[in-house]
Amino acid sequence: MTLRHAALTYILVLALVALAGDYLANRYVVIRGFEDLERMQVEADARRARNELVREVEDLSRFLIDWSSWDDTHRFASQGNPEFVDSNLPIETYLDQSLNGVFIFDTEGRLRYGGAVDTEGSFNDALHQTLLGAIRELGLATHLGEAGRAGYVMLPDGPAQFAARPILFSDNSGPPGGTLVMVKLLTGDVVEAVSQRLELDVSVHEVSSAPLARDNPELLERLTASEEPVVRVRDEDTIMGYSLVRDITGQPALLIQVREDRSVTRHGRAVAKYNTFFLAVVISAFGLLLFLLLQRRVIARVEDLNTQVKRTDISTSKLSQVSVQGHDGIAELAANINRMLQRIAADQYALREARDKLEDKVAERTAELERANRELRKLDTAKTHFISATSHELRTPLTAIQGFIKLMERHFRRRIMPLLDMQGDTRKHVDAYLDNFTIIGKETARLQRTTDELLDLNLIEAGRMEWRDEEVDVAELVEDAVVAMSGRFMEKPSVDLRMDIAEGLPPLHVDRDRLHQVLLNLLSNGVKFTDEGSVHVTVEMLGDDEMLFTVKDTGRGIHQDELSDIFKVLYQGMAEQEYTDKPTGTGLGLTLSKEIVEHYNGRIWAESAPGEGSRFHFVIPVSG
Ligand code: ADP
Repeated sequence: MTLRHAALTYILVLALVALAGDYLANRYVVIRGFEDLERMQVEADARRARNELVREVEDLSRFLIDWSSWDDTHRFASQGNPEFVDSNLPIETYLDQSLNGVFIFDTEGRLRYGGAVDTEGSFNDALHQTLLGAIRELGLATHLGEAGRAGYVMLPDGPAQFAARPILFSDNSGPPGGTLVMVKLLTGDVVEAVSQRLELDVSVHEVSSAPLARDNPELLERLTASEEPVVRVRDEDTIMGYSLVRDITGQPALLIQVREDRSVTRHGRAVAKYNTFFLAVVISAFGLLLFLLLQRRVIARVEDLNTQVKRTDISTSKLSQVSVQGHDGIAELAANINRMLQRIAADQYALREARDKLEDKVAERTAELERANRELRKLDTAKTHFISATSHELRTPLTAIQGFIKLMERHFRRRIMPLLDMQGDTRKHVDAYLDNFTIIGKETARLQRTTDELLDLNLIEAGRMEWRDEEVDVAELVEDAVVAMSGRFMEKPSVDLRMDIAEGLPPLHVDRDRLHQVLLNLLSNGVKFTDEGSVHVTVEMLGDDEMLFTVKDTGRGIHQDELSDIFKVLYQGMAEQEYTDKPTGTGLGLTLSKEIVEHYNGRIWAESAPGEGSRFHFVIPVSG
């Protein structure tokens, strides 16, 4: 990510976080605040509506006082003069005052006058009976306190306001002449008037029949318990406030419902929306400004510095420098880069000098080494020539010596010995002579073997050996070697020679004589270092493409320390010295065997422990 992209991304992320924060603040603080405000307003409106309905009863009570504290009414209640009714209670009085019932009782509770006017504006007997029944039931006709009683009463046809008071003289003195009861039905018009007065959508329901109260017992419970209005959000657009009015006996009677439009919350939402929009505009402008400022003051300069550093070639000897305008942190960074470049240039120079010196030294040493190598090669060639020449020179006289010794021994046995008197000391001397003939014969044979093996080794090492590779039948090869060794085994009757060759071995493409030489060497070592037991030769396949030869003996074994040395040139181990008073080996056999096996990309190794016999293995790859 480039610096510019990173800056842009961070600014965008910050802007989004700020907007998300603003959204959450609006959602949970601003809008909720408006909702609470709306709730409080609806609660207040529901309370106002209830107070208004309660005031209706109070108005009726106040109106009742004018009539109940009046000498005329007192007289009528106690004496029953009929002109009182005619002059004061015609139908017009009811209609003017919106009264639906006027009842006057004497002190005994007997009805002096009763009038009931229905909503149509006519006297109505049925209503008369209903109202009278209610008055009797509520005990409003007699024995009221001085203040009287007022309140709502639930009639079968609907709610009504009742006000009752003892009838006194005009100066409010007693004794009471009876009781005056006035009734106003709570009609739709009354509720409508209240609605208009309060500028609210108010409706009044009887608690017992209001479906809302029936379906929401919890609502009624709350209203009854606290007398405080309850607010309910109905949907996105409407909110309802509920309050309760009790009847004259104190029982819940009327459920007042105020329905209001949720304009406050809507307004809150709009405020939140504009707020977010405004913030988005401000943040966008601020982010853009910030980015431009960063781009100009930081990003562009850092990018320029980066390009300059990239172009700097520290491999040349010319001193490179970067340049940045200004006096701030970026300019300081450029100065530091310049200091670093200077140091790198100095180090580079020192390094080059050291390298040049080193190269000279290496060239010098290489020349020395080449010289030494040439000398060594010369020496090696001389050694090869010398060994080759010496071996060839030794061969002829050695053959002659061997022939002469045999001839001399035969001559001594046939011609000299019969002439001698083989008594006493003469017998001893003759035996000594015969022993010496044997020793000379053996030593010459050993010398001959040594020269032959030395010559072979020399040829292999110099790469001048002629390898006559051919298809060789392995079983035949091993059998030949075993036959060649049978003489040696006959000298040691307590050592068996055993052979196990796996069936169906593939032929090997090798020089028969060389491999024969390897087998002879291992077998002759085996018989040489074994006193009793056996020497066992086995051949088997190792996987699909290698053949494993093993020569195992039950002889004296080889010390662990010696195992890695026995394949070295002219190494003759402890066995040779301890085992034979005069060495019979050459110390070349295993070295030569190793060279031959390795010529065919094989490997040879030995496993042994003193007293436990030895196992010599060699592996030859089966070609094609
Ligand atoms: P040499 O002709 O003297 O036997 P080799 O190279 O064949 O020379 O063997 C080197 C040495 O390895 C021997 O002198 C002997 O100490 C040890 N060695 C080889 N084969 C055996 C064996 N089968 N058992 C014990 N020692 C062995």
